[in-house]
Amino acid sequence: MKLTIIGLWGAYPKVNEASSGYLLEHNGFKLLIDCGSGVLSKMQNYVQPEKLDAVLISHYHTDHIADIGVLQHALLVKSYLIDLRKTLPIYGHTFDEEGFSKLTFSNYTKGIAYDPDKVLQIGPFTIHFLKTKHPVPCYAFRIEANDAVFVFTADSAYQPSFVEFCRNADLLLSECNFYGNMNGENAGHMNSFEVGKLAHEANVKQLILTHLPQFGDLQQLVTEAGEHYDGPIHLAKMGDVWNL
Ligand SMILES: [Zn+2]
Ligand SMILES: [Zn+2]
Repeated sequence: MKLTIIGLWGAYPKVNEASSGYLLEHNGFKLLIDCGSGVLSKMQNYVQPEKLDAVLISHYHTDHIADIGVLQHALLVKSYLIDLRKTLPIYGHTFDEEGFSKLTFSNYTKGIAYDPDKVLQIGPFTIHFLKTKHPVPCYAFRIEANDAVFVFTADSAYQPSFVEFCRNADLLLSECNFYGNMNGENAGHMNSFEVGKLAHEANVKQLILTHLPQFGDLQQLVTEAGEHYDGPIHLAKMGDVWNL
């Protein structure tokens, strides 16, 4: 599996960057996870919209879906220039009907409901779901391919069920929207101490902090998470690539 960080900011993107968006590839299959603000623009550094094979959406907050509309427009425009031949499947949950309805656009994209109680196969990826602790329905993904395990927490306050869900992951991409002295519970986000504790208890091999705050010294997040977790900790950075 190859992970490319496209967007990493919580709530809104910093200048010239993007909010939630990650490209996951395996055996040539290209899966975009979340499609936040700025993602369509930044994504074109790594993959053209018509080359995507599928999109997977964690929840319908704007910082995770803002660019779905322009992704659909991009496919519409491209269809005049090249033979697209396929409809892009966008997988999302149906616990927000209005949000889900936006995933379908003519025959350019088609919303496909995932059932979080079942295991989903998208191309080479086997995906398990865990409901997160967030103001709106949101799902974390445990994605397996070729014996490698990648876990994305999506947006969530800390919950004990994460530990089993993240167990022994080769890579944990965890939201970390708050510093250690802040309480993210009500906003539905984790702080750096909670993320570090999770990485330690779940025995993950490495940790990337994402969904980052626009304030403070981000290096402090790494230091604080490191008080609980001995493994490698990285701040998500646009364009960073991880092979697992
Ligand atoms: Zn978010
Ligand atoms: Zn959210």
